[in-house]
Amino acid sequence: MNPSTGSDQLTFQNPVTRFPDITPPVQDQPEPGLDRDLVPQTDRGHDSYRGTGRLEGRKALITGADSGIGAAIAIAFAREGADVALAYLPEEEADAQDIRRVVEDAGRRAFLFPGDLSDAAYCEELVRGAVEALGGLDALVNNAGRQIAVEDIADLSDEQWQETFDTNIRAIFRVSQAAIPHLPPGSTIVSSTSIQAYQPSEHLLDYAATKAAINNFTKGLAQQLAPAGIRVNAVAPGPIWTPLQVSDGQPKEALPHFGKSTPLGRAGQPTELAPAYVFLTSAESSYVIGETLHVNGGTPTP
Ligand code: NAD
Ligand code: MG
Repeated sequence: MNPSTGSDQLTFQNPVTRFPDITPPVQDQPEPGLDRDLVPQTDRGHDSYRGTGRLEGRKALITGADSGIGAAIAIAFAREGADVALAYLPEEEADAQDIRRVVEDAGRRAFLFPGDLSDAAYCEELVRGAVEALGGLDALVNNAGRQIAVEDIADLSDEQWQETFDTNIRAIFRVSQAAIPHLPPGSTIVSSTSIQAYQPSEHLLDYAATKAAINNFTKGLAQQLAPAGIRVNAVAPGPIWTPLQVSDGQPKEALPHFGKSTPLGRAGQPTELAPAYVFLTSAESSYVIGETLHVNGGTPTP
């Protein structure tokens, strides 16, 4: 079931009613969670994203590309004309194969790289493999992330703190460092930060801290790479309905209320994020550097 109202992202429409105001049932999936098993299902653009040639011929590596926001980015990039390398965890093969099919149906090439981004060796192999498969690289999307809610700091283990930092920010450093020597002028790096960088939830101490770090890293690296013609930016999603939320990303009792407190009154769908990543990757944003683009249903941010 696809919650889309049937129109694409370019159709004039009311953002309040473009997607239903969902009330997800309490549910649980083991980390990292699958889109295949999410209730309700999400719109990642399968039937709703219309490409207009904005990334023609581009070669993109997208992490966390099997599901949620990353899947929506992969679909959009392919329909905009890019070939894509998809990184994800081995447990997510079913979701990744679904996105591979959509990319290939768009007439673009998809290359699959399962692995764990908290592993330094994989970060290097991923970039090397993607460059080889794509015949170069000119777009990197650092989108993978883990989010495990812990109510009390007393229960937040050192292992979780380390794992969250390794996956969410250390991997961005490692993958970016490995990718930069391959990136020609005109290339872009876009990373997924979060509204949590500005308004940390009390139960997401480790996660929110990594998202603030991603913002800061983005603005620093952007200055370093601008003279080389490589642009670095970030996207800060608000509450978006994805498998992250049901694999312990939120306290279970919070799931039915997810996203309802935004000014728009509903959770976002993954495909609503895709145009932001397309914009920051496409040449049309040539003077946009070190920016964080908020896609959060209207919550004020600094
Ligand atoms: P998602 O679960 O669909 O995607 C996250 C992906 O991260 C997973 O599919 C997985 O492939 C990848 N990942 C996690 N741990 C990994 C590891 N150790 N190695 C390799 N890959 C790993 O959820 P999503 O909500 O689409 O998340 C995408 C990004 O958006 C994340 O960075 C998340 O923090 C960010 N974000 C999401 C929301 C939201 O409300 N959903 C809000 C703000 C920011
Ligand atoms: Mg996934």
